[in-house]
Amino acid sequence: MSVPKAQLEAFLAELRGASPGLDVTTAEATLAPFGQDESGLGTFPPQALVRAVSTAHVSTVLRLATKHGVPITPVGARTGKSGGSLPIAGGVALSLERMDRILEVNADDLLMVVQPGVRTAQVDEAAEKLGLFYPPDPNSADACTMGGNVAENAGGPRALKYGVTRDYVLGLEWVMPTGEVLRVGRRTHKGVAGYDLVGLFVGSEGTLGVATEITLKLIPRPRVVKTALIPFRNVSDAARALSSVLTSGAWPRTLELLDEVALKAIAGQGLPTPPDAGAVVIAELDGNQDDAVLSELSAVVERCASWGSLEAVVAQDEAQRARLWAVRKAVSPALRSLLGQKISEDVVVPRSKVPEAIERFKAAGARQGLVVATYGHAGDGNLHSNVLYRSMDEWPRVEAVLAELMAITLELGGTISGEHGIGLAKKRFLALELSAPLRELQRRLKVFCDPSVVLNPGKIWD
Ligand SMILES: Cc1cc2nc3c(=O)[nH]c(=O)nc-3n(C[C@H](O)[C@H](O)[C@H](O)COP(=O)(O)OP(=O)(O)OC[C@H]3O[C@@H](n4cnc5c(N)ncnc54)[C@H](O)[C@@H]3O)c2cc1C
Repeated sequence: MSVPKAQLEAFLAELRGASPGLDVTTAEATLAPFGQDESGLGTFPPQALVRAVSTAHVSTVLRLATKHGVPITPVGARTGKSGGSLPIAGGVALSLERMDRILEVNADDLLMVVQPGVRTAQVDEAAEKLGLFYPPDPNSADACTMGGNVAENAGGPRALKYGVTRDYVLGLEWVMPTGEVLRVGRRTHKGVAGYDLVGLFVGSEGTLGVATEITLKLIPRPRVVKTALIPFRNVSDAARALSSVLTSGAWPRTLELLDEVALKAIAGQGLPTPPDAGAVVIAELDGNQDDAVLSELSAVVERCASWGSLEAVVAQDEAQRARLWAVRKAVSPALRSLLGQKISEDVVVPRSKVPEAIERFKAAGARQGLVVATYGHAGDGNLHSNVLYRSMDEWPRVEAVLAELMAITLELGGTISGEHGIGLAKKRFLALELSAPLRELQRRLKVFCDPSVVLNPGKIWD
């Protein structure tokens, strides 16, 4: 789909007139990379690219887009896995990457104010300098932006103990699709005045407005972190152990699981696993006292042993911890390289259902002659189940497996997306989870905020 040339040119001409110096381009070579993200859902280049450097720019773009009926797709770093940043309706990609300044780090008030183009890893690095902590840690943290994290309500391994992006956003400067600039939320850690619009806007997938400033809650940084790699003979034992670990009295900040296919994908990358390992759990605990953290880690390792784990390896220093996480972060691309193609899901099931979910997902794949690999944040029930395939000839079978994965997830009391969002990828499954009245209420919210439906059209809703 695309906007008629005359309509687009009228919009761009008025935009250039209203914002002299604004970086606007229609050069095909520059537009091309903006047609793809990490969802693997195809290539949809925009017709124009605008790189905003101020809230005024964003406001003008949206005001004039509403006037001219030109679709606008907000874009961060394009690491999204649900296709949220793909300009499927054509029109303009609005890049926020140049709004990349940390505006304030306030140790007394335990907060930080950032622009949307700041990378997630930079936020925690800045917090660390003051002994503070920004816990949300998507595995893409070195690349993705805070605007994208706000839009997707990003999670990550540490969500098990510390929660997700929404738990750390206190306030937002928010540009409505009509161009109106709002300040929602607050700078205090508590506050209940009026409806929780921050809660609504975080996770709205670039469909209800654009974040131009983000006020984040920080917390004191735990001084001690210990990480263990706990191998199992098979993924069923590992999953059963995981769902019992949290009743051992320990509270890990991460419990990551890798099944046998994920292990095969990263073979040779130096993960210290015995030859008979068919799955691993990465358990990480933190606190302020060395002894206390080590004793909690021992409780986790012992609980896993009672479920048949093999000998655990505890990282002895920061370099070993970093190496473990580097290999963990390599799982996603390594799985893709096994057969060339994959679709990565991010369903969540109640913790106690993780073992059953993994077994049933694999069986669903096998029925279609396909492999389903599962890894991810299994400690909080968030499973990255990946359907591996070679070519688009296999797509009907991939679709059948995906539909079955969603059905199993919902039957087990779960949700179809834990952190990647609905975007384009899961639109067709949303009705399985949300009732018709709920879908109608949310559609009305979308149209209330965006009466001309110019902001990220075709995402979440048709
Ligand atoms: C290897 C890898 C590992 C990953 N691991 C995790 C993980 O552990 N946890 C997790 O949650 N995700 C993970 N992701 C997914 C992805 O990194 C996140 O969804 C991230 O939040 C996307 O940020 P981005 O800057 O790349 O946004 P983009 O992909 O550019 O955009 C994502 C969405 O945000 C919207 N958007 C962007 N900026 C703004 C803004 N300022 N205002 C409003 N809307 C905006 C876009 O329109 C789009 O809908 C991973 C991805 C990869 C490739």
